[in-house]
Order: sequence, then structure tokens, then C-alpha cells
Amino acid sequence: MKVLKFGGSSVADAARIKVVTGIIADAARGDRVAVVLSAMKGVTDGLISLARKAEEGSEGLKDALEAIRAQHFDAVRLLFGPADQASALTPLAIMCNELEEILHGVELIRECSARTMDLVMSFGERLSCRLAVSYMSAKGIPAVLVDAREIVRTDERFGSASVDFPTSYALIRERLEAVTGIAVIPGFIGATAKGVTTTLGRNGSDYTASIIGAGVDAKMIEIWTDVDGVLSADPRIVPDAFVIPAISSEEAMELSYFGAKVIHPYTMVPAVEKNIPILIKNSLNPAAPGTLIAAAETIKRDGALPITGIASIEGISLVNIEGGGMMGIPGFAARIFAALAREGINIIMISQASSEHTICLVFRTAEGERALATLNRELAPELHTHRIERFELMRELLIVSVIGENMHGTPGMAGRLFSALGRAGINILVIAQGSSERNISFVIEEKNHALALRTIHAEFLPGRSK
Ligand code: ADP
Ligand code: ASP
Ligand code: MG
Repeated sequence: MKVLKFGGSSVADAARIKVVTGIIADAARGDRVAVVLSAMKGVTDGLISLARKAEEGSEGLKDALEAIRAQHFDAVRLLFGPADQASALTPLAIMCNELEEILHGVELIRECSARTMDLVMSFGERLSCRLAVSYMSAKGIPAVLVDAREIVRTDERFGSASVDFPTSYALIRERLEAVTGIAVIPGFIGATAKGVTTTLGRNGSDYTASIIGAGVDAKMIEIWTDVDGVLSADPRIVPDAFVIPAISSEEAMELSYFGAKVIHPYTMVPAVEKNIPILIKNSLNPAAPGTLIAAAETIKRDGALPITGIASIEGISLVNIEGGGMMGIPGFAARIFAALAREGINIIMISQASSEHTICLVFRTAEGERALATLNRELAPELHTHRIERFELMRELLIVSVIGENMHGTPGMAGRLFSALGRAGINILVIAQGSSERNISFVIEEKNHALALRTIHAEFLPGRSK
């Protein structure tokens, strides 16, 4: 079996849905196929904003809901002839009405919990899948809607739930074996053991595809998106970025973890476990070969390229904790980490100077204020006795990561990287290098974003055309 996943841009409107249906029909001629779909482009953002509007009792709620309804209904009108429109519209209309009632509930109590937000967000993928199944059926393709909430079992961490793999795999295998046609499964969503709707984190449909693929021991997981594959850098920032024909799972994980949005970082985990290759393809350009993500030893790479790719995460803040009082005290770092973990705050990067005089912690800005408050509370005794100095949050920063298997054991990489940035006048605030030597990450000011990425690309990957 092959699993094909199509992202929001691939199902953005009627024309794109037609193209995707053609790709699915082609694939189904050679293999058994299961399909995972995202919400139509912009719908998840739209749903989040609806929930916020309902919470605030905002005037704009009705119009915003109408826009989401219209996006789906317009697609139906363009995809179906007059005779079939009513039967395609009815299930979508019922779901939109249900959504409206939930939002009305939020409006009444003026609160949208993480649990309710997951339910609201789930409508995006459920609507797009319902629409696609109706269209595929009308075209004579035997499509069957399989609700991800019946087969992807998670815990109750709403917003980014953790998957219970053994249970999910058993449910997936059992359910999909019973499907005779093409299973169409909403990405991004799952459910707890009690059947409460959860989501897997933004961009999570890629992850769903991989979970489904691992559940059925698929021979291939194809992620269809709107670019020709994994590129050496974000093409919106680095115009010279080029497609990487093949990349190891570890490199793909590092690139996506450090901001390459083309694939969700967890996607590689189930695929690696079951040794399933992932192919990134462009639904706007199916003839392009795409990027193969597979085990490092099977990858044929261009040995001449010193790095594989560059990624970046915006919206970063950091705290620098300094003071002689930390020197040689065992457990100081452990206390900091435990306090932050208790608050559920994620540390993205850490660096400690060997003198133990400073520890630098890097957070997403959204969690920065809470991190600062937590650290101030935890370290109040040391601050009071001046064993450590007062610290502040530095904002508007960016993490840049330079990634590549070839960096391993290549002397002088870091020197070349930081010299190039120095020549461009870019100041580096923190550096961390993974012991795998597959990744060098550093923090700079956000204003240097494009300059830094273009400088590094030109230094290590010059003269390549798309
Ligand atoms: P989908 O809706 O198909 O899931 P996404 O918008 O989530 O698509 O991801 C694809 C986008 O990721 C591309 O359009 C591109 O702008 C962006 N992107 C960022 N970094 C990279 C990269 N290194 N390679 C390819 N695309 C990237
Ligand atoms: N629709 C979800 C999102 O926008 C999941 C996905 O597209 O992968 O985050
Ligand atoms: Mg995506």
C-alpha cells in the first residue's frame, strides 16, 4: 500500500481538487492507496480566528464563518453538475451548522478551552475530506471516508497530543483492511480513548500520513505539497534555493525541527521505525522527481556539497543567566530545567560556557514572558544574595540551523560559517553544535534573517540553479 498526503494548498479550491483526484486515480492504478488530506488552504487559521472571535463576542464572527462556508460551497458548485450539487452540499451544510452551534456555545461562555479549540480546528480536515470523497465518488473512484478519530489514538494534550502508537497501529490495520476502495482520512486530528477530539500540532497532517503508513506497513509515504521537494533553504527567503534530490531521515528531521515548514518534524519518526521511505512531491508539478527521504546509508548524496540545507525559526527570545554563584554548584541546571518543565515551557536551545559562569536558554517568544517569570521565581534566593545577576528577556531573535551529514568530521566548518557571517556584519548571540556534527545552530537578530540565510547559501552552496 502507498499513503498519499495532500496539503492545504493542494486542496485549496475546485481546480486543485480536480488535479489531486487525478493524481490519486493514477496512483490507484498501480497500488492500493490510502489518502490523507489537510484542510483547504487557510481554513485552519480561519477556524482559530473564528474561535477567538466567538470568545471575544466579536461582531465579525458571522462574516468569518460565512467565508469558510463559502470556500467549501463554492468548490462544490464548481466541481458538481446541478444534479449532484445538493447531495454534495448537504453533509457540508450539516457540519457547518454544527460548527456554528459550537461557536455559539463559546460565545455564550466567552471561553474557548484547548479542548474546544481542537474540536473547532477538526472541522477543517473533516470538511475537506467529506468534499473530496463526494467528488471522487461522483467521478467513479471508490472512495471511503475513514474518520481519523477512530484510528489515531492520542493522550489529552490538546493542541499537540501524543500518539499511542501500538493502539493506533492496531486500529489502523484493522480499519483499513476492511476498506475495499480508497480510504480518505482527515489529517491532523485524532481522539482520546474516550473519543474526545484532539489535534497533533500545526502542520500535523504530514505526521498523520506517516502514522497511517506505519500502521499498514506501507511501501511508500508520499507528501504532496506546493514546491518541488525539500529545498536547500526556504525559497521565499533564498531565491537561489534548489531541490535536494535525496536526504537522510535525520537531516530531514533536523531541517524541519529548525523551521523548514515543508514537512512536520515528527513525520520521520514512524517512517524510520518501519523503514518506509517518504517522497515529497509537488501537486502543481507532478513531473518533477521530488525529494526522497530515507535511511542515511541508502542515500546517494553529492559528496562535494559541504552542507545539505539551512533552516530558521523566527519569533525567538533568550535569557542569559550569569554570575559566579553558579560555579561548581551541582544541580543548578537541573533546577532550572525542572522549573521550566513544570510550567510546560519548551527550551529550544541551551548553551553553557565551560566556566559555568553563564547559561543561555532559548525559547519561542510566545513562551518567553512565562519562562522569565518562572526563572525569576526559581532563582529568587540566588538573585537576592547576588550570586547571580539580574537577567532579562532578549526578543526579536532568530535561530538559524545549518544542517548536513557531510559536515561530520569536516574540519573548519564552523570557522568558515562564522567568518562569512562576520564579513556580512552579522552578530552571533549564541551557538550550539550537536555532537552528531550534523547541525550547527546559532541565534542572531531577526532583522538579519534574509542576509544571514543568503550569505550562508552563497558560501556553501554557490552557483546552483533550481
Ligand atoms: P502543505 O500545505 O502542503 O502542507 P506547507 O505550507 O505546510 O504545505 O509547506 C510547504 C511550504 O514550506 C512551501 O511552500 C515553502 O514555502 C515552505 N518551505 C520552507 N522551507 C522549505 C524548504 N527548505 N524546502 C521546501 N519548502 C520550504
Ligand atoms: N490543517 C492543519 C494546519 O493548518 C494541519 C496541516 O495542514 O498539516 O496546521
Ligand atoms: Mg504542511
